[in-house]
Amino acid sequence: MNSQQPYDAIIVGGGLAGLTCGLALSGDCLSIPLKTLIVDAGPDLRSRDAGADQRGSAITKSSRTMLQTLGVWDALADQAQAFEKIIVTDGRNAAGNRPALLSFLEAGEAGSASAWMVENAALLSALIAQVQQAENITFMGNTAVETFDFNSSPACVTTTDGRKLTAPLVIAADGRHSNARRAADIETVRWDYDQSGIAMTVEHELPHHGRAEEHFREAGPFAILPLSGNRSSIVWTEQTAEAERLVHLPEHEFMDAFKHRFGSHLGEVKLATGYAAWPLSVQIAKTFIGPRLALIGDAAHVIHPIAGLGFNLGLRDIAALSDCLGDHVRRGMDPGGQSCLKAYEQWRRADTIMVAAACDGLNRLFSNSALPLATLRQAGLQLVDRLPPLKAFFMDQAAGLAGRQPRLLRGEPD
Ligand SMILES: Cc1cc2nc3c(=O)[nH]c(=O)nc-3n(C[C@H](O)[C@H](O)[C@H](O)COP(=O)(O)OP(=O)(O)OC[C@H]3O[C@@H](n4cnc5c(N)ncnc54)[C@H](O)[C@@H]3O)c2cc1C
Repeated sequence: MNSQQPYDAIIVGGGLAGLTCGLALSGDCLSIPLKTLIVDAGPDLRSRDAGADQRGSAITKSSRTMLQTLGVWDALADQAQAFEKIIVTDGRNAAGNRPALLSFLEAGEAGSASAWMVENAALLSALIAQVQQAENITFMGNTAVETFDFNSSPACVTTTDGRKLTAPLVIAADGRHSNARRAADIETVRWDYDQSGIAMTVEHELPHHGRAEEHFREAGPFAILPLSGNRSSIVWTEQTAEAERLVHLPEHEFMDAFKHRFGSHLGEVKLATGYAAWPLSVQIAKTFIGPRLALIGDAAHVIHPIAGLGFNLGLRDIAALSDCLGDHVRRGMDPGGQSCLKAYEQWRRADTIMVAAACDGLNRLFSNSALPLATLRQAGLQLVDRLPPLKAFFMDQAAGLAGRQPRLLRGEPD
């Protein structure tokens, strides 16, 4: 089979990043919208099980603005929980005896929080609904891309069922094991943490009042992140072997171990979803571009989830790529040309490395019980807690408001 398709861009991968990218490039956010094809190895949009991902995502203020501009946030607003307060404790103490070392109190006015928590299932459903209505997006499910030819013009990808698809630009949104990245011979800098994050949603008896808790234990952070209603999203970090042991216990034993860590401050607690362990690593592509290729999302970078910024970084990639493509296409230039791709790479790579290094440093500093480090981090946290400008700096970083902002993150049209 050899069918030439009239697409401006082929997005390989239709996860959170791929679907959002389709919306950002194909709708009226660009004065000249692109025709995009999203190809995904997973099921078609209609038969997707959005609930298969038990994780929640912290969405920063600028990411929320972007999702609002893309028409996705309205469907999420009722289910999104603002962070009203964030506390950081030394989780080595027993549950119930963990004084806050650092606390961030949000401003409290409507819409003024720095981040919101949403379940990935809700996020994915909202993105799917919007993609299904988009005129300029074609979605091809149950189709893996097997081979890539980036040296032809336009670029050509071949699917496992033998279809050849062409476009001037290929966008790799195919996740951490990206085939597109490998086909372009792009190496990564990578290390594993020997930590896994057990993710799930729980229901509890008492309200959380929008309070996020991050308890730092030697094995890694234990995060209780507020969802709408009396529910919280959990990321419970353990060494990988221990996390695997825990998730394979009978459910009641797993829950006993969980309750021991969780404590009783929110009353009775029970599971609201299944649970799964996600191995944690850092992986940054040595370049985010190749000939006729741009990497976005986890295909470009995987970071430690300690600050909940992974998908937010993916949104920044998409917003920057949308700006670069908008500029070039308006001037009649090739969307897959080196000038556009280089502008994208320059915008995104340094920011990504900075955020990845900050998350890595935080994890190293906190997942460590050596006395000098423990003393240093207590002193550091108390210093940050007492200095409002330092706190404001951290809050701006967390809200995604630091650095040069692409248009979509500011909610502005092309
Ligand atoms: C425990 C944990 C908690 C997290 N919490 C947060 C948080 O609070 N906030 C936040 O911002 N981020 C968070 N993250 C990170 C975030 O979840 C990821 O960055 C995000 O899900 C990555 O999305 P993606 O679309 O880039 O990749 P993926 O979700 O991996 O999607 C890749 C897609 O590509 C498809 N695909 C793969 N290969 C092919 C192929 N050859 N052909 C066609 N299709 C293909 C797959 O089917 C899949 O749909 C967390 C991560 C973890 C592990």
